[in-house]
Amino acid sequence: MTKPKTAILWVRNDFRFDDNEALCQGTEYEQLLPVYVASESQTPFNRGGASKWWLHHTIDAYKKRLRKLGSELLLVKGRPEEVLLQLAKDYNAEAILWNRSYNPYDADMVGKLIAKANKMQLETIGCKGSLLCEKEFLLKDDGTPYKVYTAFWRNFIKKYELKVLDRPKKIPPLPPKALEHSLSLEQLELLPTINWDAEFPEHWQVGEDRAQEKVRSFIEDGLSRYNDLRDQPNIDGTSKLSPHLHFGEIHPQRVLQMVVSKYGPISSLGDKNIIQYCKEILWREFSYHLLLHFPHTTKKPLNADFEKFPYQKDEDFFKAWAKGQTGYPIVDAGMRQLWRTGWMHNRVRMITASFLIKHLGISWQKGAAWFWDTLVDADLASNTQGWQWTAGCGADAAPFFRIFNPITQGEKFDPKGLYAAHWCPELSKLPPKWIYKPWEAPESELIKAGIELGETYPYPVVDHREAREKALENYEMVKKKR
Ligand SMILES: Cc1cc2nc3c(=O)[nH]c(=O)nc-3n(C[C@H](O)[C@H](O)[C@H](O)COP(=O)(O)OP(=O)(O)OC[C@H]3O[C@@H](n4cnc5c(N)ncnc54)[C@H](O)[C@@H]3O)c2cc1C
Repeated sequence: MTKPKTAILWVRNDFRFDDNEALCQGTEYEQLLPVYVASESQTPFNRGGASKWWLHHTIDAYKKRLRKLGSELLLVKGRPEEVLLQLAKDYNAEAILWNRSYNPYDADMVGKLIAKANKMQLETIGCKGSLLCEKEFLLKDDGTPYKVYTAFWRNFIKKYELKVLDRPKKIPPLPPKALEHSLSLEQLELLPTINWDAEFPEHWQVGEDRAQEKVRSFIEDGLSRYNDLRDQPNIDGTSKLSPHLHFGEIHPQRVLQMVVSKYGPISSLGDKNIIQYCKEILWREFSYHLLLHFPHTTKKPLNADFEKFPYQKDEDFFKAWAKGQTGYPIVDAGMRQLWRTGWMHNRVRMITASFLIKHLGISWQKGAAWFWDTLVDADLASNTQGWQWTAGCGADAAPFFRIFNPITQGEKFDPKGLYAAHWCPELSKLPPKWIYKPWEAPESELIKAGIELGETYPYPVVDHREAREKALENYEMVKKKR
């Protein structure tokens, strides 16, 4: 009797059935063993706490769906390049399939896996993961990578063709006894040991079904006002799709396809709201473009002039920032939203990041590490790009000298002070006129609002004007060193 053709599906970061190339190829085998390998690679970018929370729940959702289709997800711990090969031997597999993860720190491990598999005559099939544009898809005419977003976007519109794969109707059965060695989800120890995630379930429903539903309802109800509302942090004006995209619960291609099927081809879109949304989806791609072509930027600035920027190491300032106790309500509201929900509005990400770097003089790397640990959508490409953009040292970055004023930013994007009042409830009785600068409020207003500065809410940790001047002086030093 001939052996059934068996393949291993290495599930990495694509927790969906729809538009999943490796899964579709896997259905061509007679037996398919889907495996998740929990491995702490020796890099500075192992998953942070909030990200692990999401991972736990997305694995759970994916397992349940596989089970409904008569399959299962095998959970193991170890080095993928060893564990997967052992499984291939144990189950006489002919191939290992996966979707690429686009994490430059995994390249070495994947290289070893392929080399060892080749020696065993085992086929390895790496497929397109959760990106629209792989590394070489968009390059400038001279073959070099883009550093300017607009040019990247223009070329994308010209070249890109949507080719979405439907979800497979059937999943091949598991090889016999395949689950004997599976760990339980709890044994992966992904959930926090302290009760920090208590509020997360109120804000997030994890998994592919929810991701698809969210896109559908956003296209129906939110997209036509996206550009007008996306900068207002007190409004749910954005799609909140970032963790779903990060974990591959939905492919960005499917998102674009859903937009296109309602509004027509991207190249001929006329509505600024819809164009802007597609452009934001493309910012994620641009971030990966930068990460893949300039992997050193996870640690070092793209603009090398900034390597010598005189950042300071003030732990008290850093703690005040991280805990949302800087005395600047827009910053504190953002940092508290992050801590409690694992997410922060994009406008406020820019303001809080700018405040850390420019007002407190602390390095973007330190801020990025905090976001990495606390964001459910922590993404090496987008986080690195977002921080370098704000610090003025990345591609197409905000110029360093454009320093966000934390008072006027609050007043402009949340004129009624609702965002501040929600996340800093101790300020909620203060009229909008003072809510973003409580230290300037008349004593009578503070008393009426029940605020005692320095007791119930902090005084500003730095003076905005002085901090701004100091930041600009530091920037002059960078410019002189050029
Ligand atoms: C300092 C800083 C750090 C950031 N860190 C991350 C991160 O770790 N992970 C992450 O996904 N995004 C990050 N961003 C980008 C952005 O803030 C989030 O993608 C966005 O707030 C997610 O909310 P949304 O899904 O509602 O976005 P929407 O406005 O609905 O946009 C749709 C999608 O487009 C993509 N997108 C939107 N804006 C950006 C952007 N500026 N850069 C890259 N992709 C974008 C996201 O995938 C997003 O889900 C960061 C931005 C800054 C300024």
